Amino acid sequence: MFATFTAPSFGPVHNRPSSGRTCRCGVQHDQEDDVLGTPLDPDTYDYEAAVLWNAHAGALWRRFSVYLRREVAKRAGLSQRRFRDHARVSFAKVAEYQKRGAVHFHAVIRIDGPGGGDTPPPPWATAELLTDAIRAAARKVRVEGPTLDGRAHTFTFGRQLDVRTIRSADFNDGQELTERAVAAYIAKYATKGAETATGTLDRPLKFAAELAQLDISDHARRLIRTAWTLGARKDLEHLRLRAWAHMLGFRGHFSTKSRRYSTTLGALRDARAEWRRAQATAANDRATDTTYVLAHWVFAGTGLSPTEAWLSASLEPAPGTEGEPTNG
Ligand SMILES: [Zn+2]
Repeated sequence: MFATFTAPSFGPVHNRPSSGRTCRCGVQHDQEDDVLGTPLDPDTYDYEAAVLWNAHAGALWRRFSVYLRREVAKRAGLSQRRFRDHARVSFAKVAEYQKRGAVHFHAVIRIDGPGGGDTPPPPWATAELLTDAIRAAARKVRVEGPTLDGRAHTFTFGRQLDVRTIRSADFNDGQELTERAVAAYIAKYATKGAETATGTLDRPLKFAAELAQLDISDHARRLIRTAWTLGARKDLEHLRLRAWAHMLGFRGHFSTKSRRYSTTLGALRDARAEWRRAQATAANDRATDTTYVLAHWVFAGTGLSPTEAWLSASLEPAPGTEGEPTNG
């Protein structure tokens, strides 16, 4: 199954209702409108809860995965102990930022036989059973957060939960599910209506004063400032909110930069160096258990620029070698 888990609401935001009605602000927003996803009223938007939710999203997911195994076992009529002899539930997830700056998770969840991907799932392991278990676990899961100034925070997933059966052969090979496989699947079948990032930073902040100069939306600025301010609290030290303020509180990593390269040799060199750095960072991040965050996909255009056409032509096989494999 392919499932998307969202954050709850932290206040009304500008949107494009699927009913075709106008936004609550009275405007029919264009799809490209920068205001989409930003609060209708920033002064009442719950920035504190929004940042803290991102900071607890990883914990919420981990607990969900425990609940999910429990819900699947229950529906199969098995105790948790005996469950292991019958089936294995495996999953991989990636994170993505919604325009409002809340993280959401895309996950691929699969039931195999007790030996993992090499063994066929038991007959009771249907898509319906798994969907039902996912929905039940997502509904029940909650993480108790900190109490700040007399307010006790509790974190749950939002009501918007999308679960669908994967009908392609992408995950049929019995391979272990990986973040990369999930990212590749999403890239291949770009989920309809997937929202893109709110414009976060690609590096940690050193000083709050930097914020004023950055070319980001006021909404992103306010989320980052909230994380920075909360990061000063002793009781929230474990969330390392200053180190993760640029990620709006969420401890995740990007593997690809959503940067457009013009195809010059210098740019290619930079791209290669960038890729190596990203690989090194990814290796580090695996050690610290962060979540892979999908890059922001942008439409770059179709066809080739004159430079790309020239480069492409120069890469064509020399006469007499046609038919040999190339890395085009
Ligand atoms: Zn609006």
